[in-house]
Amino acid sequence: MAEPLKVGTLAVHAGEHAPASGPVTTPIVRSSTFHFPDSAAVDAFNAGTSALYEYSRLGNPTVHAAEEKLATLEGAEAALLTASGMAAISTTLLATLSAGDEVLCQSAVYGGAFRFLRDTAPRFGIHARFVEAGALVAAIEDARPGTKAVYFETPVNPTLRLVDLSAVAKAAKARGLVSIVDSTFGTPVLQRPLAHGVDLVVHSVTKYLNGHTDAILGAVLGSAKQVQPVRSLARQLGPTVDAGVAFELLRGLKTLPLRVRRQSETALAVALALRAHPAVAAAHYPALPDHPDHALYERQMHGGAGGVVTFTLKGGEAAARRAFDGLRLVARAASLGGVESVCSLPVITSHVGFSAAELSSAGIDRGMMRFSLGLEDAEDLVADLRQAFDRAL
Ligand code: PLP
Repeated sequence: MAEPLKVGTLAVHAGEHAPASGPVTTPIVRSSTFHFPDSAAVDAFNAGTSALYEYSRLGNPTVHAAEEKLATLEGAEAALLTASGMAAISTTLLATLSAGDEVLCQSAVYGGAFRFLRDTAPRFGIHARFVEAGALVAAIEDARPGTKAVYFETPVNPTLRLVDLSAVAKAAKARGLVSIVDSTFGTPVLQRPLAHGVDLVVHSVTKYLNGHTDAILGAVLGSAKQVQPVRSLARQLGPTVDAGVAFELLRGLKTLPLRVRRQSETALAVALALRAHPAVAAAHYPALPDHPDHALYERQMHGGAGGVVTFTLKGGEAAARRAFDGLRLVARAASLGGVESVCSLPVITSHVGFSAAELSSAGIDRGMMRFSLGLEDAEDLVADLRQAFDRAL
Protein backbone atom coordinates (compact mmCIF):
# COMPACT_ATOMS: atom_id res chain seq x y z
CA MET A 1 0.00 0.00 0.00
CA ALA A 2 1.23 3.50 -0.78
CA GLU A 3 2.57 5.50 2.17
CA PRO A 4 0.13 8.19 3.39
CA LEU A 5 1.01 11.57 1.90
CA LYS A 6 3.03 13.93 4.10
CA VAL A 7 1.80 17.29 5.35
CA GLY A 8 3.70 19.40 2.78
CA THR A 9 2.18 17.41 -0.09
CA LEU A 10 -1.30 17.56 1.43
CA ALA A 11 -1.03 21.31 1.96
CA VAL A 12 -0.44 21.75 -1.77
CA HIS A 13 -2.86 19.18 -3.18
CA ALA A 14 -5.71 18.41 -0.74
CA GLY A 15 -9.06 19.97 -1.65
CA GLU A 16 -7.91 21.01 -5.13
CA HIS A 17 -10.12 19.33 -7.71
CA ALA A 18 -9.10 21.16 -10.85
CA PRO A 19 -10.08 19.31 -14.04
CA ALA A 20 -7.45 17.36 -16.02
CA SER A 21 -7.33 20.17 -18.55
CA GLY A 22 -7.95 23.75 -17.52
CA PRO A 23 -6.82 25.81 -14.55
CA VAL A 24 -4.35 24.29 -12.09
CA THR A 25 -5.60 26.33 -9.13
CA THR A 26 -9.15 26.06 -7.78
CA PRO A 27 -11.23 28.84 -9.36
CA ILE A 28 -13.12 31.46 -7.36
CA VAL A 29 -16.84 30.80 -7.78
CA ARG A 30 -18.21 34.22 -7.00
CA SER A 31 -21.92 33.59 -7.32
CA SER A 32 -24.38 34.02 -4.48
CA THR A 33 -26.83 31.57 -6.05
CA PHE A 34 -26.70 28.50 -8.32
CA HIS A 35 -28.80 27.01 -11.16
CA PHE A 36 -30.84 23.86 -10.63
CA PRO A 37 -31.57 21.88 -13.81
CA ASP A 38 -35.11 20.97 -12.61
CA SER A 39 -37.34 20.61 -9.54
CA ALA A 40 -36.12 17.04 -8.88
CA ALA A 41 -32.62 18.48 -8.41
CA VAL A 42 -34.03 20.90 -5.80
CA ASP A 43 -35.65 17.95 -3.99
CA ALA A 44 -32.34 16.06 -4.05
CA PHE A 45 -30.56 19.13 -2.66
CA ASN A 46 -33.12 19.42 0.14
CA ALA A 47 -32.71 15.72 0.96
CA GLY A 48 -28.94 16.17 1.20
CA THR A 49 -28.32 13.64 -1.56
CA SER A 50 -26.90 15.93 -4.22
CA ALA A 51 -23.51 17.56 -4.74
CA LEU A 52 -25.13 20.71 -6.15
CA TYR A 53 -25.03 24.10 -4.45
CA GLU A 54 -28.08 26.30 -3.83
CA TYR A 55 -26.94 29.53 -2.18
CA SER A 56 -23.52 30.62 -0.96
CA ARG A 57 -24.51 31.19 2.69
CA LEU A 58 -25.30 27.47 2.76
CA GLY A 59 -22.29 26.30 0.76
CA ASN A 60 -20.00 27.38 -2.05
CA PRO A 61 -17.55 25.35 -4.18
CA THR A 62 -14.48 27.50 -3.40
CA VAL A 63 -15.32 27.56 0.31
CA HIS A 64 -15.88 23.80 0.17
CA ALA A 65 -12.43 23.26 -1.39
CA ALA A 66 -10.79 25.29 1.39
CA GLU A 67 -12.76 23.33 4.02
CA GLU A 68 -11.59 20.07 2.46
CA LYS A 69 -7.93 21.15 2.44
CA LEU A 70 -8.15 22.25 6.07
CA ALA A 71 -9.97 19.06 7.14
CA THR A 72 -7.30 16.93 5.47
CA LEU A 73 -4.49 18.80 7.21
CA GLU A 74 -6.19 18.54 10.60
CA GLY A 75 -7.05 14.83 10.09
CA ALA A 76 -10.75 15.73 10.44
CA GLU A 77 -13.74 14.20 8.72
CA ALA A 78 -15.43 17.61 8.40
CA ALA A 79 -14.59 21.30 8.52
CA LEU A 80 -16.69 24.43 8.62
CA LEU A 81 -15.16 27.77 7.72
CA THR A 82 -16.57 30.79 9.53
CA ALA A 83 -16.26 34.55 9.22
CA SER A 84 -13.78 34.76 12.14
CA GLY A 85 -12.21 32.69 14.87
CA MET A 86 -14.72 34.18 17.32
CA ALA A 87 -17.56 33.10 15.01
CA ALA A 88 -16.17 29.54 15.12
CA ILE A 89 -15.89 29.64 18.92
CA SER A 90 -19.26 31.25 19.67
CA THR A 91 -21.19 29.18 17.11
CA THR A 92 -19.58 25.94 18.34
CA LEU A 93 -20.41 26.74 21.96
CA LEU A 94 -23.98 27.80 21.15
CA ALA A 95 -24.51 24.66 19.06
CA THR A 96 -23.19 22.47 21.88
CA LEU A 97 -24.84 24.09 24.92
CA SER A 98 -28.41 24.92 25.90
CA ALA A 99 -29.98 26.99 28.67
CA GLY A 100 -29.22 25.38 32.03
CA ASP A 101 -25.97 23.76 30.84
CA GLU A 102 -22.57 24.40 32.35
CA VAL A 103 -19.28 24.53 30.45
CA LEU A 104 -15.87 24.16 32.07
CA CYS A 105 -13.49 26.73 30.64
CA GLN A 106 -9.78 27.00 31.18
CA SER A 107 -9.25 30.44 32.75
CA ALA A 108 -6.34 31.25 30.41
CA VAL A 109 -8.04 31.27 27.02
CA TYR A 110 -8.09 33.95 24.32
CA GLY A 111 -9.69 37.08 25.81
CA GLY A 112 -12.56 37.16 23.29
CA ALA A 113 -13.60 33.59 24.13
CA PHE A 114 -13.31 34.35 27.84
CA ARG A 115 -15.48 37.48 27.48
CA PHE A 116 -18.10 35.57 25.44
CA LEU A 117 -18.40 32.93 28.15
CA ARG A 118 -18.22 35.42 31.05
CA ASP A 119 -20.55 38.14 29.69
CA THR A 120 -22.77 36.83 26.87
CA ALA A 121 -23.36 33.11 27.37
CA PRO A 122 -25.07 33.71 30.79
CA ARG A 123 -27.73 35.78 28.98
CA PHE A 124 -28.71 32.54 27.23
CA GLY A 125 -28.71 30.54 30.48
CA ILE A 126 -25.27 28.99 29.82
CA HIS A 127 -22.97 29.08 32.81
CA ALA A 128 -19.19 28.91 32.47
CA ARG A 129 -17.02 27.69 35.32
CA PHE A 130 -13.46 28.96 34.91
CA VAL A 131 -10.70 26.61 35.98
CA GLU A 132 -6.92 27.01 35.89
CA ALA A 133 -5.30 24.86 33.19
CA GLY A 134 -3.53 22.59 35.68
CA ALA A 135 -6.84 21.81 37.43
CA LEU A 136 -8.85 21.08 34.29
CA VAL A 137 -8.72 17.26 34.43
CA ALA A 138 -9.71 17.20 38.12
CA ALA A 139 -12.56 19.65 37.41
CA ILE A 140 -13.84 17.38 34.63
CA GLU A 141 -13.69 14.35 36.92
CA ASP A 142 -15.69 16.29 39.55
CA ALA A 143 -18.08 17.87 37.03
CA ARG A 144 -21.56 18.35 38.40
CA PRO A 145 -24.59 17.05 36.49
CA GLY A 146 -25.56 19.59 33.85
CA THR A 147 -21.94 20.08 32.77
CA LYS A 148 -21.91 19.43 29.03
CA ALA A 149 -18.60 20.59 27.63
CA VAL A 150 -15.02 21.60 28.33
CA TYR A 151 -13.42 24.46 26.42
CA PHE A 152 -9.66 24.98 26.47
CA GLU A 153 -6.65 26.17 24.53
CA THR A 154 -3.10 24.88 23.94
CA PRO A 155 -0.54 26.40 23.59
CA VAL A 156 -2.08 29.04 25.80
CA ASN A 157 -2.14 32.68 24.73
CA PRO A 158 0.03 34.53 25.82
CA THR A 159 1.72 32.40 28.48
CA LEU A 160 2.71 29.54 26.13
CA ARG A 161 1.79 26.97 28.78
CA LEU A 162 0.56 23.65 27.33
CA VAL A 163 -2.47 21.55 28.24
CA ASP A 164 -2.37 17.76 27.93
CA LEU A 165 -4.75 17.03 25.04
CA SER A 166 -4.97 13.28 25.68
CA ALA A 167 -5.62 13.69 29.42
CA VAL A 168 -8.41 16.27 28.91
CA ALA A 169 -10.00 14.29 26.07
CA LYS A 170 -9.92 11.05 28.08
CA ALA A 171 -11.45 12.63 31.19
CA ALA A 172 -14.11 14.41 29.12
CA LYS A 173 -15.07 11.19 27.34
CA ALA A 174 -15.35 9.33 30.61
CA ARG A 175 -17.83 11.98 31.88
CA GLY A 176 -19.69 12.35 28.58
CA LEU A 177 -18.54 15.96 28.06
CA VAL A 178 -17.86 17.41 24.62
CA SER A 179 -14.24 18.58 24.48
CA ILE A 180 -13.44 21.66 22.39
CA VAL A 181 -9.91 22.99 21.95
CA ASP A 182 -8.62 26.19 20.38
CA SER A 183 -5.54 25.00 18.47
CA THR A 184 -4.74 28.34 16.81
CA PHE A 185 -1.20 28.55 18.24
CA GLY A 186 -0.40 24.93 17.38
CA THR A 187 -1.74 24.63 13.81
CA PRO A 188 -2.21 21.15 12.32
CA VAL A 189 1.46 21.17 11.36
CA LEU A 190 2.60 20.98 15.00
CA GLN A 191 -0.30 19.27 16.79
CA ARG A 192 -3.39 17.27 15.82
CA PRO A 193 -5.84 17.37 18.77
CA LEU A 194 -8.39 15.05 17.12
CA ALA A 195 -5.79 12.26 17.13
CA HIS A 196 -5.64 12.70 20.94
CA GLY A 197 -9.41 12.13 21.20
CA VAL A 198 -10.57 15.76 21.42
CA ASP A 199 -14.05 16.15 19.88
CA LEU A 200 -13.87 19.55 18.18
CA VAL A 201 -10.99 21.81 17.17
CA VAL A 202 -11.48 25.53 16.57
CA HIS A 203 -9.02 27.89 14.91
CA SER A 204 -8.62 31.56 14.36
CA VAL A 205 -7.76 30.94 10.69
CA THR A 206 -6.88 34.65 10.61
CA LYS A 207 -3.55 33.63 12.16
CA TYR A 208 -1.17 30.96 10.82
CA LEU A 209 -3.58 29.12 8.54
CA ASN A 210 -4.21 32.11 6.31
CA GLY A 211 -0.84 33.44 7.35
CA HIS A 212 -0.61 36.75 5.50
CA THR A 213 -2.34 39.25 7.84
CA ASP A 214 -4.96 40.03 5.20
CA ALA A 215 -8.11 38.08 6.13
CA ILE A 216 -10.34 37.38 9.12
CA LEU A 217 -11.53 33.76 9.18
CA GLY A 218 -12.24 30.88 11.54
CA ALA A 219 -12.86 27.15 11.42
CA VAL A 220 -14.33 24.30 13.41
CA LEU A 221 -13.27 20.72 12.68
CA GLY A 222 -14.20 17.27 13.88
CA SER A 223 -16.34 14.29 12.94
CA ALA A 224 -19.12 14.93 10.44
CA LYS A 225 -21.62 14.15 13.22
CA GLN A 226 -20.14 16.73 15.56
CA VAL A 227 -19.59 19.48 12.98
CA GLN A 228 -23.11 19.16 11.50
CA PRO A 229 -25.01 20.97 14.31
CA VAL A 230 -22.44 23.78 14.18
CA ARG A 231 -22.91 24.03 10.40
CA SER A 232 -26.70 24.13 10.80
CA LEU A 233 -26.49 26.92 13.38
CA ALA A 234 -23.96 28.85 11.25
CA ARG A 235 -26.41 28.67 8.34
CA GLN A 236 -29.00 30.34 10.60
CA LEU A 237 -26.72 32.88 12.27
CA GLY A 238 -24.94 33.60 8.99
CA PRO A 239 -21.19 34.03 9.78
CA THR A 240 -20.28 32.60 6.40
CA VAL A 241 -17.23 33.04 4.20
CA ASP A 242 -16.87 34.74 0.84
CA ALA A 243 -15.44 32.70 -2.07
CA GLY A 244 -12.68 35.25 -2.67
CA VAL A 245 -11.45 34.95 0.91
CA ALA A 246 -11.65 31.15 0.69
CA PHE A 247 -9.43 31.30 -2.39
CA GLU A 248 -6.86 33.34 -0.46
CA LEU A 249 -6.98 30.73 2.28
CA LEU A 250 -6.41 27.92 -0.25
CA ARG A 251 -3.33 29.81 -1.41
CA GLY A 252 -2.12 30.54 2.12
CA LEU A 253 -2.54 26.94 3.27
CA LYS A 254 -0.21 25.67 0.54
CA THR A 255 2.77 27.21 2.35
CA LEU A 256 1.55 26.54 5.91
CA PRO A 257 4.08 23.78 6.75
CA LEU A 258 6.99 25.81 5.35
CA ARG A 259 5.96 28.95 7.20
CA VAL A 260 5.21 27.33 10.55
CA ARG A 261 8.45 25.33 10.66
CA ARG A 262 10.53 28.37 9.79
CA GLN A 263 8.62 30.55 12.30
CA SER A 264 9.19 27.91 15.00
CA GLU A 265 12.95 27.88 14.26
CA THR A 266 13.07 31.66 14.42
CA ALA A 267 11.06 31.78 17.65
CA LEU A 268 13.45 29.34 19.31
CA ALA A 269 16.46 31.32 18.08
CA VAL A 270 14.97 34.56 19.44
CA ALA A 271 14.08 32.97 22.79
CA LEU A 272 17.60 31.54 23.17
CA ALA A 273 19.32 34.77 22.13
CA LEU A 274 17.37 37.03 24.49
CA ARG A 275 16.40 34.95 27.50
CA ALA A 276 19.53 36.11 29.34
CA HIS A 277 19.17 39.81 28.42
CA PRO A 278 19.42 41.83 31.65
CA ALA A 279 15.94 43.34 31.14
CA VAL A 280 14.31 39.90 30.83
CA ALA A 281 12.90 38.07 33.83
CA ALA A 282 11.66 35.06 31.82
CA ALA A 283 11.30 33.79 28.27
CA HIS A 284 8.22 31.61 27.76
CA TYR A 285 8.61 29.07 24.95
CA PRO A 286 7.76 25.35 25.19
CA ALA A 287 10.79 24.19 23.17
CA LEU A 288 13.15 25.61 25.82
CA PRO A 289 14.33 22.67 27.95
CA ASP A 290 13.50 24.47 31.22
CA HIS A 291 9.92 25.35 30.19
CA PRO A 292 7.53 23.89 32.80
CA ASP A 293 5.67 21.91 30.08
CA HIS A 294 8.72 20.85 28.06
CA ALA A 295 8.12 17.11 28.57
CA LEU A 296 4.53 17.53 27.38
CA TYR A 297 5.80 19.58 24.42
CA GLU A 298 8.00 16.68 23.38
CA ARG A 299 5.06 14.24 23.58
CA GLN A 300 2.36 16.41 22.07
CA MET A 301 3.89 18.77 19.51
CA HIS A 302 5.90 17.72 16.48
CA GLY A 303 8.35 19.82 14.49
CA GLY A 304 8.45 22.91 16.70
CA ALA A 305 6.58 24.96 19.27
CA GLY A 306 5.19 27.64 16.96
CA GLY A 307 6.10 31.21 16.16
CA VAL A 308 5.04 32.96 19.37
CA VAL A 309 7.45 33.76 22.21
CA THR A 310 6.50 35.76 25.28
CA PHE A 311 9.02 37.60 27.43
CA THR A 312 8.34 38.90 30.93
CA LEU A 313 10.38 42.03 31.63
CA LYS A 314 11.89 42.62 35.06
CA GLY A 315 10.66 46.22 35.17
CA GLY A 316 6.98 45.31 34.78
CA GLU A 317 4.53 47.19 32.58
CA ALA A 318 6.58 50.43 32.47
CA ALA A 319 9.62 48.55 31.15
CA ALA A 320 7.51 46.56 28.68
CA ARG A 321 6.00 49.80 27.36
CA ARG A 322 9.47 51.34 26.90
CA ALA A 323 10.69 48.28 24.96
CA PHE A 324 7.45 48.14 22.95
CA ASP A 325 7.71 51.82 21.99
CA GLY A 326 11.33 51.28 20.94
CA LEU A 327 10.73 48.48 18.40
CA ARG A 328 11.91 49.42 14.91
CA LEU A 329 11.44 46.36 12.69
CA VAL A 330 8.80 44.43 14.63
CA ALA A 331 5.36 46.03 14.27
CA ARG A 332 3.40 47.16 17.31
CA ALA A 333 0.20 45.32 16.42
CA ALA A 334 -2.31 42.81 17.72
CA SER A 335 -2.75 39.37 16.16
CA LEU A 336 -0.14 36.79 15.23
CA GLY A 337 0.78 34.12 12.71
CA GLY A 338 1.52 36.37 9.74
CA VAL A 339 4.71 36.69 7.71
CA GLU A 340 5.52 39.99 9.45
CA SER A 341 6.76 39.93 13.04
CA VAL A 342 4.46 41.73 15.46
CA CYS A 343 4.51 42.48 19.17
CA SER A 344 1.65 43.12 21.56
CA LEU A 345 1.37 43.81 25.26
CA PRO A 346 -1.36 41.40 26.45
CA VAL A 347 -2.56 43.71 29.25
CA ILE A 348 -3.52 46.42 26.75
CA THR A 349 -4.61 44.18 23.84
CA SER A 350 -5.96 40.61 24.10
CA HIS A 351 -6.57 40.87 27.86
CA VAL A 352 -7.39 44.56 28.23
CA GLY A 353 -9.85 45.25 31.03
CA PHE A 354 -9.15 41.97 32.87
CA SER A 355 -9.18 42.37 36.65
CA ALA A 356 -6.00 41.67 38.64
CA ALA A 357 -7.53 38.36 39.78
CA GLU A 358 -8.45 37.37 36.20
CA LEU A 359 -4.95 38.23 34.98
CA SER A 360 -3.41 36.25 37.80
CA SER A 361 -5.52 33.14 37.15
CA ALA A 362 -4.64 33.40 33.44
CA GLY A 363 -0.95 33.56 34.47
CA ILE A 364 -0.47 36.98 32.87
CA ASP A 365 2.14 39.39 34.21
CA ARG A 366 1.79 43.11 33.45
CA GLY A 367 5.36 43.07 32.14
CA MET A 368 4.70 40.50 29.40
CA MET A 369 5.51 41.20 25.76
CA ARG A 370 4.15 38.73 23.22
CA PHE A 371 6.09 38.39 19.97
CA SER A 372 4.78 36.60 16.90
CA LEU A 373 7.81 35.95 14.72
CA GLY A 374 7.34 36.18 10.99
CA LEU A 375 9.56 35.24 8.09
CA GLU A 376 12.23 37.91 8.48
CA ASP A 377 15.77 36.70 9.20
CA ALA A 378 16.29 35.73 12.83
CA GLU A 379 19.46 37.88 13.13
CA ASP A 380 17.52 41.04 12.21
CA LEU A 381 14.76 40.22 14.68
CA VAL A 382 17.20 39.49 17.50
CA ALA A 383 18.95 42.82 16.84
CA ASP A 384 15.64 44.71 16.98
CA LEU A 385 14.48 43.03 20.20
CA ARG A 386 17.91 43.58 21.79
CA GLN A 387 17.92 47.31 21.15
CA ALA A 388 14.30 47.54 22.35
CA PHE A 389 15.04 45.55 25.54
CA ASP A 390 18.07 47.79 26.17
CA ARG A 391 15.62 50.70 26.53
CA ALA A 392 13.82 48.80 29.29
CA LEU A 393 16.87 48.76 31.55
N1 PLP B 1 -8.26 32.19 19.42
C1 PLP B 1 -7.03 32.70 19.61
C2 PLP B 1 -6.00 31.87 20.30
C3 PLP B 1 -6.73 34.00 19.17
O1 PLP B 1 -5.50 34.49 19.37
C4 PLP B 1 -7.75 34.75 18.54
C5 PLP B 1 -7.50 36.13 18.05
O2 PLP B 1 -6.53 36.77 18.41
C6 PLP B 1 -9.01 34.19 18.37
C7 PLP B 1 -9.23 32.90 18.81
C8 PLP B 1 -10.13 34.95 17.71
O3 PLP B 1 -9.98 34.87 16.33
P1 PLP B 1 -10.53 36.00 15.31
O4 PLP B 1 -9.80 37.25 15.62
O5 PLP B 1 -10.20 35.41 13.97
O6 PLP B 1 -11.99 36.13 15.54
